[in-house]
Amino acid sequence: MSEYLCPGCGAPLQSDDPDKPGFVPREILERDGPLAVCRRCFRMRHYGEAGGGQPAEDEVRAAVRRAVQRADLVLLVADAFDFEASVAPSVRELVRPPLVLAVNKIDLLPPRTPHEEVRPWVEQRLAAGGWPRAEVHLISARTGWGTRALWARLAERVGRGTVSVLGVTNVGKSALLARWSQAVGHKGPAPTVSAVPGTTLAPLPLQLDPDSFTLLDTPGIPPRGRMSDRLCPDCARRVVPDRRLKGQLWTVQPGQAVLLGGFAAIEISGPVPPGSVLIAYGAQGLPLHRTRAERVPQLLSDPPPPLRQAPCGHCRKRLAAGGFTTHAVTLAHAEDLVIHGLGWVTLRGGPLALSVRVPNDTKITIRPNLLGPKDRPGRPAARTVIR
Ligand code: GDP
Repeated sequence: MSEYLCPGCGAPLQSDDPDKPGFVPREILERDGPLAVCRRCFRMRHYGEAGGGQPAEDEVRAAVRRAVQRADLVLLVADAFDFEASVAPSVRELVRPPLVLAVNKIDLLPPRTPHEEVRPWVEQRLAAGGWPRAEVHLISARTGWGTRALWARLAERVGRGTVSVLGVTNVGKSALLARWSQAVGHKGPAPTVSAVPGTTLAPLPLQLDPDSFTLLDTPGIPPRGRMSDRLCPDCARRVVPDRRLKGQLWTVQPGQAVLLGGFAAIEISGPVPPGSVLIAYGAQGLPLHRTRAERVPQLLSDPPPPLRQAPCGHCRKRLAAGGFTTHAVTLAHAEDLVIHGLGWVTLRGGPLALSVRVPNDTKITIRPNLLGPKDRPGRPAARTVIR
């Protein structure tokens, strides 16, 4: 084992075992010294390959706890698309004030989304989830939007102290650090950014600007119940949005169902108040399909071409082997039904009785709507149902 850490993932670099984290061929380690990148990060960065060697959940949580203890301020990065998975109770247990929440991937939301509505929505969701007080920033590590202001604010709050950066896997922590690294002209290699979860393996101190604070990057916390984590890398790329979300609107009819790819089916199981409309949001690569409810089992077991691509045959078999759960829920006007790691539907009108069929262990949440008008006459503003 060498004295150096991989600047991509934080694993100690070693040339003994190609199957263990931090492996780099000896000649590259000797040539590049502290600038050497492990083979896993190198391949992920240059060929977009999936890497192995993900750490166990309890090791990750222990590493995150140590980083939080050392921090003058905790920066939690959340994903605007997968907000519920990013701020799950298992994540809340790890944080403490002072806390800044950076909601990343804001570029995925439709361009007409007013940011001044998203921030109070986030604050309300945190309050409903029993979170400690947090300063909320909306950012896009992809476009750089809001990232400079966030850096300046952290510098203002901690001076030359330590900011520990946490988040569940794939929220864009490494992308944010890479963005900052570029912005301050940091010379060393940037952390690895990957479409595949679990890139950072150990806490990694980063002094991007010698005159400013130290960042402590931590391994991604494995979320529970997120559909995208149970798929092969190709299927995960289809359901994890890379570009602006697709939204599709349907006037609801009794006895209909909406399929989110071949992953989940939302059936209308009761009467439909006139004028009720469902809007489904997901990645551009996720086929959205309306059908009659009685056709759902057939379409899921023997899908036609657009649904056949997502999930692929292998993932379809694996999900079917794990079994499905059907949740009976009632969705009210201006509420979202979220399927973690896949997307959500928003209801205008209603209420609607729905029967939601998802693979076992995939979580669903009902929440006040994120997108669109927030008119919720006569109803509590923060109803949350998590299953
Ligand atoms: P980490 O596991 O939290 O370190 O996540 P990464 O930084 O590796 O990013 C995970 C995925 O999200 C990659 O496919 C990134 O390209 C993507 N990503 C990161 N930040 C953004 C963002 O601001 N917008 C969009 N659209 N995608 C992002």
